[in-house]
Amino acid sequence: MEKVVIAIDGPSGTGKSTTARMLAEKLDYLYIDSGAMYRAITLELLSKKVPPNDLKRIVELATNAKIEFEGEEFLLNGKNVTKEIRSLDVTNKVSSVSAVKELRKILVDKQREYAKQHNVVMDGRDIGTVVFPDAKFKFFFVCDLNTRAARRRQDFIDHGMKIPVEKIMLELKKRDEIDTKRKESPLRKAKDAIEVNTTNMIIEEQVNLLLRRVQGLD
Ligand code: C5P
Repeated sequence: MEKVVIAIDGPSGTGKSTTARMLAEKLDYLYIDSGAMYRAITLELLSKKVPPNDLKRIVELATNAKIEFEGEEFLLNGKNVTKEIRSLDVTNKVSSVSAVKELRKILVDKQREYAKQHNVVMDGRDIGTVVFPDAKFKFFFVCDLNTRAARRRQDFIDHGMKIPVEKIMLELKKRDEIDTKRKESPLRKAKDAIEVNTTNMIIEEQVNLLLRRVQGLD
């Protein structure tokens, strides 16, 4: 039977990941954090000191990368890198790495593989536009910058890092700029996506809104 895909796109700090994870749990779907995949490859490139223009190595590393989602944990080539992929260093570099066309193709293929076997909730930047243009449900999250920065700050605290909000704001703006202006799969709302403004919403409201749509109640 055809598997169901729920795509959630939008900039970071809009609450996509937490909403997606909770929604997947309620529906008993697989949750795939596509951003974690781009972060993992960025981490690998940084730790192996691969220059950003070494396409051959990037393709090689990405093709051979064994990516595993285990509950809230994320494994790359058998190693738990859940924390490392959220570091400021990875966060600052991930958008330029994600702009590489050849890398995107490899990760998009891996993302599509998941949906062959499972019903999935997947969040990212291009899920409803490129990865699954025919997804049954598409949502696009937006939120004002101050709220996004405050949420990101809390995320960092939850991962044991204290970072000034101004620094986070700059990082968000820079990533938004690269993600929306890149040539390959830029961040944009799919024509048929439902826009959800999460500025004044709490997580439970977001999850319920999506759940009701998916269950055909709204
Ligand atoms: O979602 P998260 O903030 O972890 O994503 C990190 C980065 O990975 C984004 O800023 C973007 O550059 C890239 N990304 C992407 N396409 C996706 C998911 C993430 O380009 N589907």
